[in-house]
Amino acid sequence: MSESNPITCSLDLNAQGKHAGTLDLVHSDNQHAIGVIPVPIAVINNGPGPTALVTAGNHGDEYEGQVIVRDLFHTLTPDDITGRLILMPALNYPAMLDNHRVSPLDGGNLNRSFPGDPAGGPTAVIAHYLDSVLFPLCDGGIDLHSGGRQAQFVNCAFVCLADDAELSAANMAMAEAFGAPFTYVMHGRDAGSGLDPAANRQGTPFISAELAGGGGVDRHAVELGAAGTRRLLAHLGVLRNGPAEAPPDTRFVTGIEALAAPFSGIFAPAIERGECVTAGQIAGTLYSVEELERAPQVLHVPADGVVIARPAPARVRRGTHLCLISRETDRASLLGGI
Ligand SMILES: [Zn+2]
Repeated sequence: MSESNPITCSLDLNAQGKHAGTLDLVHSDNQHAIGVIPVPIAVINNGPGPTALVTAGNHGDEYEGQVIVRDLFHTLTPDDITGRLILMPALNYPAMLDNHRVSPLDGGNLNRSFPGDPAGGPTAVIAHYLDSVLFPLCDGGIDLHSGGRQAQFVNCAFVCLADDAELSAANMAMAEAFGAPFTYVMHGRDAGSGLDPAANRQGTPFISAELAGGGGVDRHAVELGAAGTRRLLAHLGVLRNGPAEAPPDTRFVTGIEALAAPFSGIFAPAIERGECVTAGQIAGTLYSVEELERAPQVLHVPADGVVIARPAPARVRRGTHLCLISRETDRASLLGGI
């Protein structure tokens, strides 16, 4: 349990009602010699029932989910809840303060840090607290991501399948309740140090989502993600009155084929997120920034599928993925492959 984790939670997570507080993380460096790092956490608790966890800011420069989680806290009352809702809008708080994907304190990518280490750097300690304290309390949850400053994603749920068929089905059911236009499915063994498979290893159904990106706050993605999160919470039995309408159908995609930039330059894309593309179709044109005399290079889509992500900035480096293409599939074949 939590004895060996240096985080102290300022809240009693069993207290009834609606409370906001912090996970106080002790860390000693040039800026934190005598203080704590206050990672925000909130709980809305209304008697017996399931517990759900909604998180965002796992990567610090992803803001759509942070807005959704904060809105949940400010709009929901205990009367809206059966059981308990735990909210964490800025999981890697030091990274969020720095407006970066990873922590400035230790370079830690929280979503590559599970199950964490109570004796490690701040990122590993936060991961360990989630893994050892919060996941075992939960009956389900969602971690809201976006593309951050460097990428733009199609609005989609991310589902990790588990070796346990029942757990995989529970994850898929949450994604269908979330009802994003697309649901990306992979096996948890391919994302072993991520948050979702870590929760799944505790037997806790958990999914994540990608909601736009670019380092700003995409209004459409926030609306879609907020409605989806409320449907998911209603599905888990934690939210009493979820959205009345049924979730929109989602299209399942899997696998990644990437087109890497062959040189540094300015990329002018010719394809959109969510677009169905075919191999060989023009993906865009890359212009060298150093060599004006170098002819612009037309680049082509590497595979048939759906464009799930593109870089956000125009300037790209050699090796930057200029598009990520996933293959469309169906629910039955995904679950049959467990
Ligand atoms: Zn992320």
